[in-house]
Amino acid sequence: MKAIRIHQFGGPEVLKLEEVPDLYPGERQAVVKIHAVGVNPFDTYIRTGTYALKPQLPYTPGADAAGVVTETGPGVKQFKVGDRVYVAGTISGAYAKFALCQESQVHPLPKNTSFPQGAAIGVPYATAYRALFDKAQSLPGETVLVHGASGGVGLAAVQLARAHGMTVIGTAGTERGKTLVSEQGAHHVLDHTQGDVPEQVKKFTADRGADVILEMLANKNLGKDLSMVALRGRIVVVGNRGTIEINPRDAMSRDATILAMTLFNLSDADRARVYAALDAALESGVARPVIAKEFPLAEAAKAHEEVMKPGSYGKIVLIP
Ligand code: NAP
Repeated sequence: MKAIRIHQFGGPEVLKLEEVPDLYPGERQAVVKIHAVGVNPFDTYIRTGTYALKPQLPYTPGADAAGVVTETGPGVKQFKVGDRVYVAGTISGAYAKFALCQESQVHPLPKNTSFPQGAAIGVPYATAYRALFDKAQSLPGETVLVHGASGGVGLAAVQLARAHGMTVIGTAGTERGKTLVSEQGAHHVLDHTQGDVPEQVKKFTADRGADVILEMLANKNLGKDLSMVALRGRIVVVGNRGTIEINPRDAMSRDATILAMTLFNLSDADRARVYAALDAALESGVARPVIAKEFPLAEAAKAHEEVMKPGSYGKIVLIP
């Protein structure tokens, strides 16, 4: 079968489509024929070899995908051959025609959800859920600022927060992105390329500030976030690409909490709980992934370039 392989860390050009051996399921494992693969910014960090998580070379990248179960190993109880599924993590890598998965990494894909949408769930929705509910302990009636709402994680956060009964303020860097954030449920939409986000957030919250801020680019915004978080507010650092100087007094004067997360630190029990909630959100229509662009699997390098560009509009997927 065909898969993208990385033999050395580096730029997008190290992603090569190659022939690899077929996969066979062991105990409590399944093989899934992949119809769509989710491209996460995280895949590009790992590819460079400078990220904390460094796989052994060569490897097939990717954590998220959706497709159909083609083979199950002994002891698999939740799925049968022919089931439509999404996968959140694999054993063999998702940028491929087929993936080998633990049964616990495989989830049902409802009929109303397409394969590309299924490939957009694993990392983005679990990150949004973890940040909103496990970390910030968000409550109905509170206001959340999704600072970077036009991408995979941001749109997931907007949808989940809106359904939770929160007032949602979302930001994007383009008019097209702002329209999408509004369509997906944000009550107010702002442009994070403009300097007036703190003033606008205060205006929308009668000067209180946002109770919860999910931050997609902390190295740019953490200082500003501290100026627009409410008394006893919580900021969750989800994304960061550098360093920043902040004034801790801004946090002190608000009794504010700065939290941070990496999805890959989830325990098995937390993972099972988070995906059970997401499976319900998909089934009920609360989770409605938005696809920005599709690339053929062979063009994985182009997709890696695209996912790091500004102007997000949902999720980028590969089609094997
Ligand atoms: P994505 O789909 O590429 O979206 C990136 C988002 O960041 C877009 O909404 C983009 O908006 C926004 N952005 C760009 N410049 C910004 C700025 N100055 N201020 C605020 N937002 C800005 O990526 P994603 O999958 O949603 O992930 C978002 C970030 O979280 C990435 O850095 C990713 O690595 C990280 N992440 C972390 C975890 C974790 O476990 N901690 C898990 C998943 C993702 P425009 O394009 O409209 O400007």
